[in-house]
Amino acid sequence: MIELRYWKDEKLKKWYAKRLLKQLEGKAPIRKSSDPILDTLYKEMLTLTEENLCDILLEERRRLTEKYVWIREYVKLCDFIAYYSELQELTKKKKEYASLRTKYLNQYMGYYLKELIAGLSMKEPELTRSWKNFNRLWQNAVHCCEETNRIISTVVDYSFMSQEMRHQLYQKMDVQICPYCNRQYIHTVSMTEEGMYLGDLDHFYPKSIYQLFSLSLWNLTPVCKPCNQLFKRQYNRRILSPMTVGFENDCILKINYADAGSIVGMNDHFTFGWEIQADASEDKKLKIQQNLDMFYLNDVYQFHKQDIQDILRKRYLRSNVLIEKQNELLGSLRLSAEDVNRMVYGTTLSRERFHKELLGKMTYDIAKFS
Ligand SMILES: [Zn+2]
Repeated sequence: MIELRYWKDEKLKKWYAKRLLKQLEGKAPIRKSSDPILDTLYKEMLTLTEENLCDILLEERRRLTEKYVWIREYVKLCDFIAYYSELQELTKKKKEYASLRTKYLNQYMGYYLKELIAGLSMKEPELTRSWKNFNRLWQNAVHCCEETNRIISTVVDYSFMSQEMRHQLYQKMDVQICPYCNRQYIHTVSMTEEGMYLGDLDHFYPKSIYQLFSLSLWNLTPVCKPCNQLFKRQYNRRILSPMTVGFENDCILKINYADAGSIVGMNDHFTFGWEIQADASEDKKLKIQQNLDMFYLNDVYQFHKQDIQDILRKRYLRSNVLIEKQNELLGSLRLSAEDVNRMVYGTTLSRERFHKELLGKMTYDIAKFS
């Protein structure tokens, strides 16, 4: 998993906001529910300024929740729904039902959950004692979230981005390799007028729950179709977002050699896999593991055993003496370090180019660490 930085590009942000503001301005939220719980949200949506809309389009989630109380409360409600299946799995595994439900509830407690609990005529510990009781709260929360999203969708909705704009966005993002797997090309098919795209634009936080972020630039991740449609789908797990951080040196492709020949790529007597490093933070370790599991990274990379053997061979045959001799011959045209890496490995071994080089992260790890 690699980091993407396109969404921080000021020129792109300016273009994106300018194009979409035209679509969003002047749209008034439609009230479809008389539930007083939604009053605050409705008023906020009625009085959104251009600055507020720009923030929603461009500011990352953490900054939005710091700046706007109503977004912080909305996100707590969305998170409560989004990670519910994770809670169900965890309770089954740990056999600590009531205590984990209580912890989960406290984690997302806010305006909406307090109001919903008040309407249930049930308090703790009764509420968290059984799934039956807790599910009643969850179902009401789902309904409440649907209502909030219905109001928001009249002002902010993914459908407001035209096909033409999406096509331009793909090109401006300039992400050529899927950030989740780093092993599939994604690009527009330039020979067709329809501008077919070989990837998907994934909503990291699914728009079915987080409607407010359906047009947020930092939430739109260009990814390959297998990662999006086969592996991620609507699953909500606490994974690393490519918009925030990549595996970096906290998870590297580790090779276990069976003999000397395998070290120099003469045979395939080796095994390998993604290894989480002990000095990574506990939070990052958990998230990396979720990424490895969700995208089957250890399984899909087994397909690249031959590629790995080739890299090991190239690493062994790489000769500083030969490169120096070549540079002497080239004179002022001498090769840069990146040129040499590209010549030897087929990639530059530069983290800044992982999003443009197939298997860039794997090749980097083998050349530097394994
Ligand atoms: Zn992928």
